[in-house]
Amino acid sequence: MTKVRFAPSPTGKLHVGNVRTAIFNYLFARKAGGTFVLRIDDTDVERSTQAYEDGIRADLTWLGISWDETFKQSDRFDRYEAAAETLKAKGLLYPCYETGEDLDRKRRLQMANGRPPVYDRAALDLTDAEKAAFEAEGRKPHWRFKLSGNPVEWDDMVRGHVAIETSSLSDPILIREDGSYLYTLPSVLDDIESEITHIIRGEDHTTNSGAQIEIFEALGGKAPIFGHQALLVGADGGKLSKRTGSLGIADLRDVDGLEPMAIMSLLARIGTSDPVEAFADVEGILEGFDLGKLSRSPARFDDEELKRVNAKLLHAMPYADAQPKLAALGADKGEAVWEAVRPNLETLADAKAWAVLIDGPVTPVIEDADYAAAAAQHLPAGVLDSESWSAWTNTLKEATGRKGKMLFMPLRQMLTGAERGPEMAVLLPLIGREKVLKRLAGETA
Ligand code: GLU
Repeated sequence: MTKVRFAPSPTGKLHVGNVRTAIFNYLFARKAGGTFVLRIDDTDVERSTQAYEDGIRADLTWLGISWDETFKQSDRFDRYEAAAETLKAKGLLYPCYETGEDLDRKRRLQMANGRPPVYDRAALDLTDAEKAAFEAEGRKPHWRFKLSGNPVEWDDMVRGHVAIETSSLSDPILIREDGSYLYTLPSVLDDIESEITHIIRGEDHTTNSGAQIEIFEALGGKAPIFGHQALLVGADGGKLSKRTGSLGIADLRDVDGLEPMAIMSLLARIGTSDPVEAFADVEGILEGFDLGKLSRSPARFDDEELKRVNAKLLHAMPYADAQPKLAALGADKGEAVWEAVRPNLETLADAKAWAVLIDGPVTPVIEDADYAAAAAQHLPAGVLDSESWSAWTNTLKEATGRKGKMLFMPLRQMLTGAERGPEMAVLLPLIGREKVLKRLAGETA
């Protein structure tokens, strides 16, 4: 049974980079008919907040990502304690008393001698008396996991065969001086106890995975299958733009007014061998979803492409799907208006502005009063319909000798107060005779 987890730390908001990991895990579980776990990695009690946790849950929900199980690491400190004791008993977790300054000094010295800055394991040689002396000084130890020094290898779902030389790594610190846990040990224990089958996460964790595989084994577990996706870069291949890098998912929703499926569609496809498409629902994405299609080079994230996907999604969105969103914006003006404004939308919020062109109040822009009078005079009789615009403009063309832009643009400006917008042939019947005549007479209506 496939079981995956997304494990954000509630020390900040979700942004395009980390939400992509959530999306991959979610899609992977859905595709396999497996279980998706949301784990809140809040062992850093100083920096974790309830507000960030709530935000993460709200953002995922808005994106359409639901979880089958969820838990918080802060509820499991007793389990981590027990795991730490197991490792200590095996001699694999050892106390170190170096201060940050001591460690800095060691690193500088190693580098000056052309050696890699790997922790020298001096703490392993401390005698009980030396440790007792440190404790008597009031020093508290931090605890390191003793790596084997052997290579750790695995077949990565994204990166293929990976080998990490643990001999070139510092023994990782699992517990800080203040007794708090870094994510390394709790994560492994949780993955064992929740029976996670696949760990899908960013490439920045690849080296950690080498150490974590040894911790899995030390705790009597078996390491899951790993997939480390390449990270996101900006459109030009450089760093993500400052704006994008700092924008949260909530900002994309509230500030940029983007659709969740636009974000999901783009993030699921960039950096893969499939083209970016605008998917109206997750089923469409699931069809071709395969982590094996991910490239090992970074995925380019382009704000402009996101906007294009968003617009495409709106242009094809049926009224039934748009209606609840429009209603929430106070911009639901019925199906006919939706059909009229839809092709001009970049974001759903634009629908509101476009709808005002129909409902008013519109302050007409009249540059030629004679033309306005002629237009009023030649407006087709009766109820305006889909044929009215061409009949009207043909008549006006003959009556006034105007053509092209000179014929059409003033009509648009007089009727909508703007130079661009949805098709006039569609707008005209929606505005209706009464308001058309008022606007042609220069009234705000
Ligand atoms: N909380 C860790 C992070 O956000 C989890 C990493 C993992 O997926 O194992 O980086």
